Amino acid sequence: MSDFLPRIIKLSSETINRIKAGEVIERPASALKEILENSIDAKATCISVELIEGGLKKIKVIDNGHGIVKDDLPLALDTHATSKIITDEDLYKVTTLGFRGEGLASIAAVSNLSLASITLNSTHGYKIISTFGEIKEVIPYPLNIGTHIEIDELYHNIPARKKFLKTANTEYSHCKSVFERIALSYPNINFDLKHNDKIIYKLFEESLSERIASVLGSSYSLINSIELSEVSPTLSLKGYIFHPGQISLNSNKQAQYFFINGRFVRDKVVQNAIKQGFSGVLHHEHQPQYVLFLTINPTEIDVNVHPTKSEVRFHNSHDVHNYISSSIRKALAKNSFSISDKSFEEGARHFENNLKQRNYENNSPPNYSFSNSSFKSQPTSSPGSSFNSFNSKAQESNFSFPNSIENTSLNIRENFFKDEEIEGTNHEETLESISKMPPLGFALGVIHGAYILSQSQDGLIIVDMHASHERIILEKLKSQLATSSISREELLFPVAIESLPEHLLASFEEHEQVFLDLGFDIQINSNKELMVKVIPTFMQRLKVRELIIQMLNEISEFDNSNLILREQEKLLGNIACKCAIKANDSISLFQMNAILRDMENLPRTGYCNHGRPTWLKISLTELDQMFMRGK
Ligand code: ADP
Ligand code: MG
Repeated sequence: MSDFLPRIIKLSSETINRIKAGEVIERPASALKEILENSIDAKATCISVELIEGGLKKIKVIDNGHGIVKDDLPLALDTHATSKIITDEDLYKVTTLGFRGEGLASIAAVSNLSLASITLNSTHGYKIISTFGEIKEVIPYPLNIGTHIEIDELYHNIPARKKFLKTANTEYSHCKSVFERIALSYPNINFDLKHNDKIIYKLFEESLSERIASVLGSSYSLINSIELSEVSPTLSLKGYIFHPGQISLNSNKQAQYFFINGRFVRDKVVQNAIKQGFSGVLHHEHQPQYVLFLTINPTEIDVNVHPTKSEVRFHNSHDVHNYISSSIRKALAKNSFSISDKSFEEGARHFENNLKQRNYENNSPPNYSFSNSSFKSQPTSSPGSSFNSFNSKAQESNFSFPNSIENTSLNIRENFFKDEEIEGTNHEETLESISKMPPLGFALGVIHGAYILSQSQDGLIIVDMHASHERIILEKLKSQLATSSISREELLFPVAIESLPEHLLASFEEHEQVFLDLGFDIQINSNKELMVKVIPTFMQRLKVRELIIQMLNEISEFDNSNLILREQEKLLGNIACKCAIKANDSISLFQMNAILRDMENLPRTGYCNHGRPTWLKISLTELDQMFMRGK
């Protein structure tokens, strides 16, 4: 041991401020974030940003907010000085973006800063200057409205720190991201951004969907987005989600924006909830894309978790997780077609009748029919009735997963091909005569044994035959499963899960009900082992032990798990794949149309079971353009 005994000293305020600055102001982009948040808290409606060399040389922000009174200017640069909270209780009901009172102080400690401001009812503006933390006096300064702030030479006084900054280009791209996040979150504010005299953005007050397209590009426009608007008494989730299959591949943006009470946050509970919301419709190479706003009572979250305020803690993360993932599921399940549209039902019936009449004499009547109330396919009693018959069969046979699902589904494929072919139908005339068609129109035929071509109201629809049929079967199997009670199986020999880590055991005890609801009976014995006595039947062929441990891991990390749902979906997906029509299977027009109608009626049919799109449309206008018509 050495003789040296460390002694404790109090750090100088200069050192304290630099430590703080290191936490809050990592790079020019973090300074920009603090300043923009101040402008928004000051209720500005116009915010203009100018950067030089990625903000390394200069960051200048002008706003038209309520301003700062002369006497408060020095305080604005002082650490732990704020107008946004008064007591520590206020910390738990923060409604502003800032509240820690250290943003400007931290920036001032490591830059040349000038802050000029005028308040609404004063006639003169004032300015305060600080050089690397040293405050000069307050001087009169002419300005019309709001606050001007300029930050020069960030980290020039701390070369050791400056070394960690990247090139101007990289720092610029970070600043741009910060700007974009804030611009997305406040579409009601006018923003502009200039970099090295180049105008990058000029954004006028607009709707959220317009702002999204302005910032993220036209492939994020309204037609490619799914609107989400869930409101409950305590929470609301609004915004847009985007299916990656819909977003053009050359878009280099990844729209992953989540805001809680207007604040951009990265949170693993939120990210997991979104991922679970998207599960079942996403290609494994794709990431979910979204611009979502969660509004929650400020008392339900803690925003004071991190100096940069980019993390939050939920008091009840389980409920928030559920709310987010189920809202997204619900939105993705919606079809892009309005099935209540009576006029296209009309058109479809008209078309069907026409076909029936033409074929009555030579063939037995076509067995595919439309119900009166909706477009749903109806099983009929004729022997040829098939494509849709598994629905009724499943109901009769007291459907339970997996045995009967396998039995019923095995017949789907065979039955599908029992449909009578209707030869030589010339329905061109019929198509023309229909005023309003169903969204996916009427089938013309199949090309290359793989794609159904269909004429719709205003263009050509191309449908991936196998992929869409596979999704249709999956959705039907799923809805069968949802309406029948879970069948369980008592294990002859209970499965023991021994030596579980403490936190997983705790997580089981806390969430026992989840397992009960899913059809398990699991008990803890005196050796702190889990004894699995009853399992949902379909789990027979899964590794019970592994699955339960994985579920417990997910639950303890994210407060939630939809592993069982995912496994179910995987199994049903396999069945659906086996039953669906394959390339080069020949199918009749009726069967093609049946697929189109099912796609219009069932959820999630826009994407195949692997998340690829199932259909696309070329509009008549696009066709005309391709052939240079009217030029
Ligand atoms: P915080 O935002 O956490 O309060 P800051 O150091 O960022 O702390 O700002 C200190 C104070 O300066 C704010 O509380 C606010 O009163 C005032 N202020 C800063 N920027 C502006 C601005 N653009 N307009 C009006 N007031 C501002
Ligand atoms: Mg602030």
